[in-house]
Amino acid sequence: PPLLGVDGLVVQYRRPGAAPTRAVGGVSLEVRSGEVVGLVGESGCGKSTLARAVCGLTPAEEGRITFDGTPVRPLNVRRRDPALTAVQMVFQDPYGSLNPRRRVGAQIVDGIRAAAGRGETDGPRTPEEYLSRVGLPESDAQRYPHEFSGGQRQRIAIARALAARPRLLVGDEPISALDASAQLHVATLMRSLALESGAGLLFISHDLSVVRHIADRIAVMYLGRIVETGPAAELWDSPRHPYTQALLASIPQPDGAGVLPAELPGDVPDPSAPPSGCHFHPRCPHAFDGCDREEPRLTSGGVACHLHPAA
Ligand code: SF4
Ligand code: MG
Repeated sequence: PPLLGVDGLVVQYRRPGAAPTRAVGGVSLEVRSGEVVGLVGESGCGKSTLARAVCGLTPAEEGRITFDGTPVRPLNVRRRDPALTAVQMVFQDPYGSLNPRRRVGAQIVDGIRAAAGRGETDGPRTPEEYLSRVGLPESDAQRYPHEFSGGQRQRIAIARALAARPRLLVGDEPISALDASAQLHVATLMRSLALESGAGLLFISHDLSVVRHIADRIAVMYLGRIVETGPAAELWDSPRHPYTQALLASIPQPDGAGVLPAELPGDVPDPSAPPSGCHFHPRCPHAFDGCDREEPRLTSGGVACHLHPAA
């Protein structure tokens, strides 16, 4: 089995007095050991929800998530299942995951202990070693999170995640709070450290221009669905789905990664009331009769668009 298997996943949010919102509307995805999969899409497309479901932090309505062939059950809270410490997450804001009152060395030791709890004892044994792997001086182990810049804190969060010897590392927008100059650097670091330890990496970002440098495969998400997936170079060189094409076209805009170009009308629709048929049809420059009625399925060729029917 793949390291991570996601099959037909549906995640809904319910609010009193409102129709449920389908944040993830039937997604299938695989990550293998030693593979980097980039998951790309605008904010609100369901990427983070998918990541949380993968980590057992959000229950699934339908579908199946397996880790190493074993089902990850909904509401399988991490501290109840030590096996799930083999899945580690790095978030956008390291302030949210680092404890401000504890020295960073002690927090990395938590990771080392989590690994030891699963019988994983072959990695480095000291926080200093993990700090140097992410390019920070060993003396930083004695300092507190507030003493570091955003980029340094993100390295610390990565060091702590690595110390748990994850088999799967999930980064949810791990670079989007960083300066442009630090983004590619931290992304590349995550890739090399994950692969060095034989783990898989699911790297979630709205920034296709960075993801394409580190991912082996890319999946593009729009309003809860994967609309295109393929090898990173192929997807970058010859995007087939009009949404992927629009994402690529948006990249030259200064600071505008993930923002659709002006000629595409409309904002991301409300996920609680997605458009009929192809969810992208109100913004699609190629929409034709029928796109607003029939939802295209993701073909085995990796694209969900009526312009590209299954072979
Ligand atoms: Fe555009 Fe139609 Fe393809 Fe949707 S199915 S992306 S509306 S052409
Ligand atoms: Mg998000």
